[in-house]
Amino acid sequence: MNIALLGSTGSGKGTLIHALAEKLSLHPISLGEVLRSKASYGTALGLLTRDYVTNGELVPDEFVDAMVEEVFRHLPPGTHTVLDGFPRTVGQARFLDDLLAELGQNLDAAIYLHVPEQVIHDRVKHRSQPRHDDEPHILRHRLHVFRRMAGPVLRHYAENGRLVLVHADRPTHEVELTVQKVVEDLRQGQHPAFTDADFQFLDQTFKARSVVPIETDPALNLVLLGGPGSGKGTQAVNLCKAFEVPHISTGDLFRDHIRKQTDLGQLAKSYMDRGELVPDDVTERMVAARLAQPDAQRGFILDGFPRTVSQAEALDEILHELKRRVTGVVHLKVSDEEILRRLSGRRICRQCQAPFHLLFKKPRREGLCDRCGGPLYQRDDDKAETIQIRLRNYHRQTEPLIAYYHSSGVLTEVAGEGDPVGIRAAMLAACKLFSEEPEDAAIS
Ligand SMILES: [Zn+2]
Repeated sequence: MNIALLGSTGSGKGTLIHALAEKLSLHPISLGEVLRSKASYGTALGLLTRDYVTNGELVPDEFVDAMVEEVFRHLPPGTHTVLDGFPRTVGQARFLDDLLAELGQNLDAAIYLHVPEQVIHDRVKHRSQPRHDDEPHILRHRLHVFRRMAGPVLRHYAENGRLVLVHADRPTHEVELTVQKVVEDLRQGQHPAFTDADFQFLDQTFKARSVVPIETDPALNLVLLGGPGSGKGTQAVNLCKAFEVPHISTGDLFRDHIRKQTDLGQLAKSYMDRGELVPDDVTERMVAARLAQPDAQRGFILDGFPRTVSQAEALDEILHELKRRVTGVVHLKVSDEEILRRLSGRRICRQCQAPFHLLFKKPRREGLCDRCGGPLYQRDDDKAETIQIRLRNYHRQTEPLIAYYHSSGVLTEVAGEGDPVGIRAAMLAACKLFSEEPEDAAIS
């Protein structure tokens, strides 16, 4: 039996998971703990995650998925589990379904602990050990993002009859008893009914906010999509030069905020220092602040954000606040075989970090750096096994995002293989179509 506990911060999940683990002999899998323990393990994934965290970069969702997979694959057969902190998105929910099916199991139920937001505010205010992110304005934003992300996940489980709604605005022991009863019933093969009233309740609580379309926004507000090794970064730099708009990458934003020790930077760092994932709402606020700056008024090229449909919706909201919208999305398409060829050939000098490539930039002496003679090595990131994991998860995450932009009519695809000059020209041509003043864009 496998169960997922869903609920926002302050819903009491943390306490409940331990009570359930003890009383019902369920094996607890808490994402936060998995991340913290992995980072200290010697596994490739653990090392990689630590690299991301220490370099001030976001840990990509595909690594989170891969870690959850690792945990499940190492459990003794027949282990009953209870999950906390995963899945947070529909993509992750689907991933979990696929993974469990592969292992001959399934997720029996997703138990959603609902607590009204006002109650959460009160609870958090009276927490015995205040957390660094409990301040009211941060909490408000966090709950807003939870609502946006949780709605689709809950619908995913409601549609195939696996959702259980528990009103958790009650004393802890009562909630515990209710959930215990649910699990015991499930073990007897009885699934608690999910009523029409429950459906209506969820619809009301998680109603999507309508985004009013904005008629004209002459700026080139561009989102660049492309997998690992697609060459997206290089193309972004070219396009920014041609259209004189800033290149906004989430990696740079993070490093910038942390270096300048802004409020958001310090907040992000506090998660990283604890070995936790930086929550989406922190990233979103960095993007929102950046897009509001004067140099982004003529347009921008976003690279590394959005990565999920939920983040795409967040971007729509952010731009809507600014009376703007996404005017174009370019998907730089490269086949998996080509990506594998590009990434797995990379080598780096252990002494001076100079980059080489077995096909495109061979060192003069095999295995040795041209510059300092140091030994070359392959980063864990570039090993075939890791690339496969990244690709698989990239596709699962990005396909819904591509569908999202396709349906809003702003998507175009550019083939990212072959002659670099041709790719560059195709990118410029695609973006010119989105730009309202094509004559102004100098193609050089
Ligand atoms: Zn070197």
